[in-house]
Amino acid sequence: MPAPTTRFNLDTIPGALLDSPRKNAMPHPDNPYAHLPSVDSLLAHPDIAGLKERYGHTAVVAAVRAELAERREALKAHPDSVPDTARLAADCRKRLEADFAPSLRPVFNLTGTVLHTNLGRALLAESAVEAVLAVLARPSNLEYDLAGARRGDRDDHIDGLIRELTGAEAATVVNNNAAAVFLLLNTLGVRKEVIVSRGELIEIGGAFRIPDIMSRAGAKLREVGTTNRTHLKDYAEALSPRTTLIMKVHRSNYAIEGFTATVPEEQLAELAHEKSLPFVEDLGSGTLIDLSAHGLPKEPTPQQALAKGTDLVSFSGDKLLGGPQAGILVGRKDLIGKIKRNPLKRALRVDKMTLAALEATLRLYRSPELLSRQLPTLRLLTRTEEEIRTLAQRILPKVRTALNAHAEVSIEPCRSQIGSGSLPVDRLPSACLVLKPNGRGGGRALNRLAQAFRELPIPIIGRLEDGALRFDLRCLEDEAGFTGQLVLLKL
Ligand SMILES: *Cc1c(COP(=O)(O)O)cnc(C)c1O
Repeated sequence: MPAPTTRFNLDTIPGALLDSPRKNAMPHPDNPYAHLPSVDSLLAHPDIAGLKERYGHTAVVAAVRAELAERREALKAHPDSVPDTARLAADCRKRLEADFAPSLRPVFNLTGTVLHTNLGRALLAESAVEAVLAVLARPSNLEYDLAGARRGDRDDHIDGLIRELTGAEAATVVNNNAAAVFLLLNTLGVRKEVIVSRGELIEIGGAFRIPDIMSRAGAKLREVGTTNRTHLKDYAEALSPRTTLIMKVHRSNYAIEGFTATVPEEQLAELAHEKSLPFVEDLGSGTLIDLSAHGLPKEPTPQQALAKGTDLVSFSGDKLLGGPQAGILVGRKDLIGKIKRNPLKRALRVDKMTLAALEATLRLYRSPELLSRQLPTLRLLTRTEEEIRTLAQRILPKVRTALNAHAEVSIEPCRSQIGSGSLPVDRLPSACLVLKPNGRGGGRALNRLAQAFRELPIPIIGRLEDGALRFDLRCLEDEAGFTGQLVLLKL
């Protein structure tokens, strides 16, 4: 059916064809594009003109062109779907907002894993956030010795604090613990053999594998013992003139139970020292405090490892320590010195933001009584089941209302995990909201429900288990932020 010709009167659609090559764009009664306003006329629309202030001319023009191109495609299929200019302007605005929305953004971690690697691990303490902000947009004394008015070392900002807290002779910091292990091996183990128990050849999430790191670092892995049992004599028999290190790796994300044997650090240190070799340990998480004093399962500390004769210890900044992503190496001054002189240290060095956050985080450990309040990781880990259940009861009615008849909601006890390879077996009693879609639809309905929560302005991430969506509330602190956006759920 031919469209009414009046719709193609160019006089009523100023600049209708400006965005197409003029010479072959003669108006034609069958040309549906003639209904689209020009780029220029859209740019002149008051709703769009104002956006230039915020996004700049280039981005606004690009958005307008992209929107018109999409509309042209739509008109090919549906020649009658002609949008009005106000509508087009509104869509351009939406497009710009989406284009400029950050990809990396906050979410609610209700997975039940506190230190969730995919969700950013440790949350920084307020003082750490402030410290980062303070150096972000201003020059800082990052590598400048203010007292001596000369070049400084960026490690100096944390070196003293780490030595004070761990009792180590020296310390240095790199981008993450994987980098710390790599740098250690590349400095002390190159072309030589490093002895490690077969029970400790671990893989950490994100493909950090001890054998691979070892070979990339140029060190030769000398495996000893078996998966479940390794004895001192296994290490002793593997020693040779090619040996350069004895290494112990914390198993972190798995546990070996039953008929097992490992060699205590003291004995490994003694064996290494008899041959004048260093004994080193990758602790993984490495908390600086005795977690059992907070009712949590024990986890080895760097200070304990050092006291047992370990010459170098590496651990993460953003696991139980509760700071920024970083890898910390502590131990003998001569060994740390060698590591710092390795040219790869430069490639793995930390940024000022990391240093600012790490320094502020470490400082919190000077006030141990305040730690469980000030350090988010410890605050979340020490939340009691009762406290979490009370929170669940408070928000249950709001979640019920928001879900309307779409899903049943109940409260169930559950167990949170510490995560990031810390204490893999121990679980912390907690409470969760259990959402079960009503009616039929099974798995699809469940996935849709989970998706609706993920599509909120601050996405809510839970866990799918036993045909239900579970929100472990251990890590929910911004209660108002959580309930406030429930009205936006698109079910
Ligand atoms: C987590 C972990 C690593 C890797 O640390 P990142 O800080 O994630 O790079 C290495 N070794 C062990 C034993 C770990 O637990």
